[in-house]
Amino acid sequence: MLSFEQARQLVITDTQSHLTSPPTSLLPVTDSLSHILAQEIRADREYPPFNRSTRDGYAVRAREGTKNSALRCIGEIKAGDTVFAPLDPGTCIQIMTGAAVPPSADAVVMIEFTRRSGDAVTFDRDTQPRQNIVPQGSEAHAGDLLLHPGLRLGFAELAIAAQVGASNLLCYQKSRVAILSTGDEVVPITETPGPFHIRNSNSVSLAAQVRLAGGQPVPLGNALDRVDDLSAKIELGLQHDILVLSGGVSMGKYDLVETVLKSFGAEFLFDAVAIRPGKPVVFGRCRNKLVFGLPGNPVSTMVTFQLFVAPAIDLLSGAPARPLPLLNATLSQALHEKSGLTHFLPARLEWSAASPLVHALPWQGSGDIATLRSANCFLVVPADRHDIPAGEIVSVLPRPDVL
Ligand code: AMP
Ligand code: MG
Repeated sequence: MLSFEQARQLVITDTQSHLTSPPTSLLPVTDSLSHILAQEIRADREYPPFNRSTRDGYAVRAREGTKNSALRCIGEIKAGDTVFAPLDPGTCIQIMTGAAVPPSADAVVMIEFTRRSGDAVTFDRDTQPRQNIVPQGSEAHAGDLLLHPGLRLGFAELAIAAQVGASNLLCYQKSRVAILSTGDEVVPITETPGPFHIRNSNSVSLAAQVRLAGGQPVPLGNALDRVDDLSAKIELGLQHDILVLSGGVSMGKYDLVETVLKSFGAEFLFDAVAIRPGKPVVFGRCRNKLVFGLPGNPVSTMVTFQLFVAPAIDLLSGAPARPLPLLNATLSQALHEKSGLTHFLPARLEWSAASPLVHALPWQGSGDIATLRSANCFLVVPADRHDIPAGEIVSVLPRPDVL
C-alpha cells in the first residue's frame, strides 16, 4: 500500500503530466486575493522614484553634520513636496519620512539626535553618508519583473500590483470542483433527519475546503447508494475540472463508487493509502478529469482532501503545488497507537511554552466531528511507531483554516 507521501506525489505527477493552461479573466486588484496571476507585472518607474528619506529629521551633507557642529536650517520638505534646489553648504533642511531628499544632501539625521535653537540645528553624533536614505531605483528599476504568472496573490502581492498602478489583474479562473456526497442515510441539511439518517455535513466541509484551496465548489448534492442515481450524478460531475465524491469507497455491499466509476472508464492510480483515517481513498482519471473518492467519515474526508485533493487544485489553478505545511512540535502526553498505518490524530498545538507543544485530543474516531472544534492540527504518527513518549518531537499538520 502507498504511503501518504507516495500517494500525494502520484496525484501531483499525474496532474502535472496532463496540465493545460487554465482560462483567464480580468479582475479588479481588490477582488484578486488568493487568485493565481496569469500575467507579468513590471515596475512602471524607479522604486523609490526619488531618494527617499526614511526618517523625520534633517537632510544634510554628511561631512558637515559632525558631532556638536551646527548648521542653519533653511526650511522644510514635506512628503509629496517637489524639490529642485540643491542644499547650499553650511545649511540643512528639515525633512519628513517619505519626502524627497534634495540634491547635494547625502544623509538624513533623525530628529531625535539633534537640538534646535531658532534656525540653528546642532548634531549629537557624527553623520554617515547615505544614512536614512533609500536611493532612487534601489528597490526596483523601471521595467523590472515584480510578479510573474503562476504567483498566488496574497496581500503583499496585491500591494505590489497596486503600487505600480495595476488596478486590474489577469488571473487564472479557479478550477471547478464538483462535490458529490453518497449514501442512502444522508439527507440535505435543510431537512429533518429520520432517526437513522444523518445530515450532509461533508458537502459543506468539502465546499469550504475547496474554497480554501483556491477552487470553485460546484455542489451536486447527494447520490443514493444505487447504480442509476450514482451514474446520473457522476455524469454531471465529470463536466467539471475535478470530481470529489464522499463515501461509498469502502468494502461495504453498498459501496458502489469505484464500480460505477469503472463503468465510466475510470483508471485508478490508487484505491488505498496506508493512513488512518482515510485508508480507502481513491484517485483516478475519468474522461480526462480528475476523480477523488474520499471515505465518508467526516474526519477521513477532511484529512484526505487536505492530503490529496488540495495539491491537484493548486496545479489546475495555474500554480505550483504547495508543500504540506508540516511543523515540528513537542509531544506533551505519551501516545499509544497501533502501527502499520500513518495516523492523523485531531490535536491541539499551543504556543504558550518556549517551543510549540502538541497533544492529541480524545475522540471517538473518524466520525467524531465534535472533537474537531478544539483541534487546530492533526498529529502525524508514523506507521512504524507504537509508543511515543512525552517530550519527543513529532510532526504536525496544521488545519489551514485555523492556523
Ligand atoms: P461510507 O464511507 O459511505 O462507508 O460512510 C462512512 C461513514 O460516514 C458513515 O457513518 C456515514 O454515515 C458517514 N457519512 C457518509 N457520507 C456523509 C456525509 N455526506 N456527511 C456526513 N457523514 C457522512
Ligand atoms: Mg456510504
